[in-house]
Amino acid sequence: MSKNVSKYLYQNMDKEAGIQHTFHKTKIVATVGPACETYDKLLELVKAGVNVFRLNFSHGAHEDKAKIITHIRNINKTEPYNISILGDLQGPKLRVGEIKDGALVIEPGDILTFQSRQKVVGTKESIYISYPDLHRDVKPGEKILIDDGKLEVIVNEITKDGDVKVTVTYGGKLLPKKGVNLPDTAISLPAMTPKDIEDLDFIIAQKLDWVALSFVRGAEDMVDLRRRVDEQKSSIKIMAKIEMPSAMTDLRNIINKSDGVMVARGDLGVELPVEKVPMAQRDIIRKCIHRAKPVIVATQMMESMMDRVKPNRSEITDVANAVLEGTDAVMLSGETAMGQHPVLVVETMRKIILEVERTEYPYNREDDLVPQPHSPSFLSDAIIYNACKLAKDTNADALVGMTQSGYTAFVLSSYRPKSPLYIFSKQQSLINQLSLSWGVRAFHYAEEESVDDILHDQHVILKERGFVKEGDVVVNTGSLPIEEHLPTNILKITKLK
Ligand code: PEP
Repeated sequence: MSKNVSKYLYQNMDKEAGIQHTFHKTKIVATVGPACETYDKLLELVKAGVNVFRLNFSHGAHEDKAKIITHIRNINKTEPYNISILGDLQGPKLRVGEIKDGALVIEPGDILTFQSRQKVVGTKESIYISYPDLHRDVKPGEKILIDDGKLEVIVNEITKDGDVKVTVTYGGKLLPKKGVNLPDTAISLPAMTPKDIEDLDFIIAQKLDWVALSFVRGAEDMVDLRRRVDEQKSSIKIMAKIEMPSAMTDLRNIINKSDGVMVARGDLGVELPVEKVPMAQRDIIRKCIHRAKPVIVATQMMESMMDRVKPNRSEITDVANAVLEGTDAVMLSGETAMGQHPVLVVETMRKIILEVERTEYPYNREDDLVPQPHSPSFLSDAIIYNACKLAKDTNADALVGMTQSGYTAFVLSSYRPKSPLYIFSKQQSLINQLSLSWGVRAFHYAEEESVDDILHDQHVILKERGFVKEGDVVVNTGSLPIEEHLPTNILKITKLK
């Protein structure tokens, strides 16, 4: 045994916690807000099952975010967890301006005027929208949706002065600052606003694990984000939020250019006809699994628990179905950020996940993910594929991967193996990032002596932690020669002594 094993034991979950905590393979992302932003509340949420905290940059100041980040990092230092932090950029969110008397009742057939020249207090004669090129980009006949699609107007004409005249089709109360969606319009705004660029600098400086970009329109938006991240030599992983019809059209390329994807059903359900959202979700999850990219299903999963102690029956089924479809993670938004029962909602979600994973979960997807001979990663893909098959055929008690780039971990996870999956890496940043990935439990391990020592150490670490015991079967992948850090190229099976 390498003399350094004991130091790795300390850095990870202690034996007691390792045994007691029933592990849910589908991960839970929780949005942080006033209902859970103290150290103690965040820790309670982690103990209830949270793997990733999401910081929503649509709200709050950097100094408040910095406090939350410190709390989460302290939890990772003092408790046996590797919680990941996801910074969610607001993106080019469009909004109406102020409204006279705080609300304007609009009815079907009413004619309104939208404009972006001047921040006026809105009346039917002039309503400000925060989109400088509104009059250049919209065309007669296109739809404009307000307040999550509760209100809908159709563009009639664009005047010489840049006024956009519209007719109301679905009316109601128009409230100040509500969001505006233009599902029919090719929006010419840059992917990242000046606020997003400032927020990204903060996110990178704070060394968050993931950054998500909202309102991604096509793969080039992710290329732009990647360039900005690379310029700062950051190892942060980038995530595309799919919430626009054009993103659905360019989905394959977006997934290829991203490290992960979020099915942002809130805005997606406004931008697309609502009945299309379930199949869009299924399609996004399937394509992400095929490319071994982690995917999150987000928004309104347990919303009724904002102020109630039990979820709606449809919400229970929604979470269960997302798990069955194979999502890496399910997400809570207002439920944990502002709800009355943030801990209970996480506990409830975890119970739903565990029940699905205990019963009908479609593990071991080797038949759907056969390695492609023309792929540049074919040889390592073939080892990983066969490692998963071997683990299944031998009913292995552990499937263990080693990775420095994360690739082996993401691909092993994409097979959704029934055998527990353990990943070792010397990249500390990757350990937290992998908290989002289905089924992955990651450990920091930096020794590079010999493959014999490394495999032996990994087995000892897993044994000491209570994950495996004498007589158990372990399937390991790795790479030789050690010092060259080549893609995965070895496969070994061991019956533990
Ligand atoms: C969504 O629209 O579903 C979403 C997650 O984005 P946000 O909450 O940032 O609007």
